[in-house]
Parts: sequence; structure tokens; C-alpha cells
Amino acid sequence: MLLAPSPVSYRHFQRIGVSQFFRIAPTLDDAIALLRPPSPVLAFPASFSCPICGNPLLARRTGAIRCRHCKSELEIASSEELIVH
Ligand SMILES: [Zn+2]
Repeated sequence: MLLAPSPVSYRHFQRIGVSQFFRIAPTLDDAIALLRPPSPVLAFPASFSCPICGNPLLARRTGAIRCRHCKSELEIASSEELIVH
């Protein structure tokens, strides 16, 4: 679990190929929430916080999404799973 990595640090993790091994949380409360079992359903459109910078994001469906603020690439893999690329 990485707590609030800077975009520069996170991109470094991506470049060296280890970002997929970590779960990312922008705040301690988000980290605690990530450790809990997933909520059963994410209804679309879904609003959530970017796991990298914490700014609000809106997902209209599953698939790739890019944070407008930190430019991180995220994927809504299913109604229950968010993957950071
Ligand atoms: Zn972001």
C-alpha cells in the first residue's frame, strides 16, 4: 500500500515496472477503506477520488480513464475494481 505518492514518484514506480504491485491511497482514510472488503456494486456514472492525487473523477462506464489533474491512467475494470496503470 502506498499512501499519497506524488505524481512524480508514482510515474517512477510505473517506469521501473513495480506500480502494479501496490495499492494506492491518497489519504489514510482511503487506505483504510481499501483494506476493507470491496463494496458490492459501483453504479454508473460513479464518482470517486483519484487514488493518486485525490481529485474527484467521474466514470461513466468500465474502461480506461485519465485523471485530468495528475494525468494518471486508471482503468475501471469492473463495477467493483479500479486499477491504476
Ligand atoms: Zn489524479
